Amino acid sequence: MPGYNKHRLFNYIIFIVIVFLFYLENAIHPDIGRLLAICLGFYIGTEFVTPDLDTNSTAYKRWGNLKILILPYKWTFKHRQSSHNILYGAIVRILYISIIILVFYYLIFKSLSTGLDISPVYGIIFLFGIIIANALHVILDNIF
Ligand SMILES: [Zn+2]
Repeated sequence: MPGYNKHRLFNYIIFIVIVFLFYLENAIHPDIGRLLAICLGFYIGTEFVTPDLDTNSTAYKRWGNLKILILPYKWTFKHRQSSHNILYGAIVRILYISIIILVFYYLIFKSLSTGLDISPVYGIIFLFGIIIANALHVILDNIF
């Protein structure tokens, strides 16, 4: 089973290769906002919101004091089972963390309106970055 650093190395190498190939083929002409959104999503999906939140992993420990918020997730999902489903696992993690963020946001601001005028496209691209990073994690787990 690959460790945390092996997952990170694998993810970043594959991500750079994919971006480079798209760039060579002139297939992408992203504006800086979209590029930042996918990079940020990929980073979060590689470092923090990984399939290994289901165990006492380095990714789990990286949450620091906030890891208490991840405990219910960790208790609910057994290691390397549904949390390591290539699509469903990432979607469940995204929903789980989104609910936590929304609850905190609501407790702080007493409203769910963001007041921000950001295109939902950036949010979708950001989530896509997390899903790609999580999929690469599962692929590497299945190779080893
Ligand atoms: Zn794993």
